[in-house]
Amino acid sequence: MSDYYSTLGISKGASQDEIKKAYRKQALKYHPDKNPGDKEAEKKFKEISEAYEVLSDDQKRRMYDQYGADAFKAGMGGGPGAGGFSSMEEALRTFMGAFGGGGGGGQESIFDSFFGFDADPSTAGIRQGASKKMNLTISFEEAIRGTEKEAAITNYINCPTCDGLGAASPSGIKTCSQCGGAGQINQTRGFFSMTTICPSCHGQGKRITDPCSSCRGSGREKKKQQIQIKIPPGVDNGMRLRMAGYGDSGEGGGPPGDLYVYITVRSHEIFERDGDDIRVELPISFAEAALGVKKEFPTPTGGNARIVIPEGTQSDKIFRVRGEGAPNVHGNGKGDLLVKVIIETPVGLNEKQKELLKEFAELEGTHNSPRSRTFFDKLKSFFN
Ligand SMILES: [Zn+2]
Ligand SMILES: [Zn+2]
Repeated sequence: MSDYYSTLGISKGASQDEIKKAYRKQALKYHPDKNPGDKEAEKKFKEISEAYEVLSDDQKRRMYDQYGADAFKAGMGGGPGAGGFSSMEEALRTFMGAFGGGGGGGQESIFDSFFGFDADPSTAGIRQGASKKMNLTISFEEAIRGTEKEAAITNYINCPTCDGLGAASPSGIKTCSQCGGAGQINQTRGFFSMTTICPSCHGQGKRITDPCSSCRGSGREKKKQQIQIKIPPGVDNGMRLRMAGYGDSGEGGGPPGDLYVYITVRSHEIFERDGDDIRVELPISFAEAALGVKKEFPTPTGGNARIVIPEGTQSDKIFRVRGEGAPNVHGNGKGDLLVKVIIETPVGLNEKQKELLKEFAELEGTHNSPRSRTFFDKLKSFFN
């Protein structure tokens, strides 16, 4: 059993970051799902996981540095597998921990998270395809009701001639002889061991001796495609839609990138979004406000708002029409329509209207204007 540091290909003074990075690189290479039935890879996977388990814990690492592996194992209680992790489950648990993949995700999500935040290109040529961004502007109504838009994107896709292989035939791919397919080489100088990207294959781990004539060995080609973008009802300005797998295709068997669609919603002349609620200002005449009125008008959801404005309604009063707002984009019900009543002062009065209003003013008592009465009462109390 070799030294934990050399197992991970790192120096004794390696930082936690370097330890984690080295482990990730190797764990991906020797992961049992990548090497089905390969006993050597399985053994190696257990070894590196054990090394990582110890070195990633500062306390365990100190013990290991001081007493070596055996003393350390005794200190752990000497489990049944004194020569390493007793089971693959333990090794896989370590793997999950290092990759931030919590429970329940299954292995695909583990790789997702791995490729998601480790863009280290030296992992033997396996790379996630690049993710893409695009902006999309939609109307206010489209945002509320949902819509489908067609857009053109130019992505790298797997070369259809070689199916992403890069070679004219599988025999046209040879394992890199300098790094043995690892994509990296260990150089030892005295005490120090350094891992660098293999200069011969540039981290690919393989060499293409008979390149595919269509893609000249890259395994990918650029292609313009028309795609359908489904906008769910209730999206709002500034939201981002993730279309998984709509980015560039991956390299060396890596997963494709994603497409991020940034939504801009054009503002509406009358309606305004406020989260899942929709706000609108409804002008009514002062006679309607005084006498009461029923109003009905179409809403952006495609429905109808009916509100009963009682007599004596003041300006700025807000009426709530339940369920006539935007649907929640995550499916949590619907917002409301908030109708703010604005009382309009009449303009362009003719002589008859003016006469009637004057007559009305003469008959008007202070109890007809509760707000101004309160206002003057308050003023009086200030100055008396
Ligand atoms: Zn190489
Ligand atoms: Zn090709």
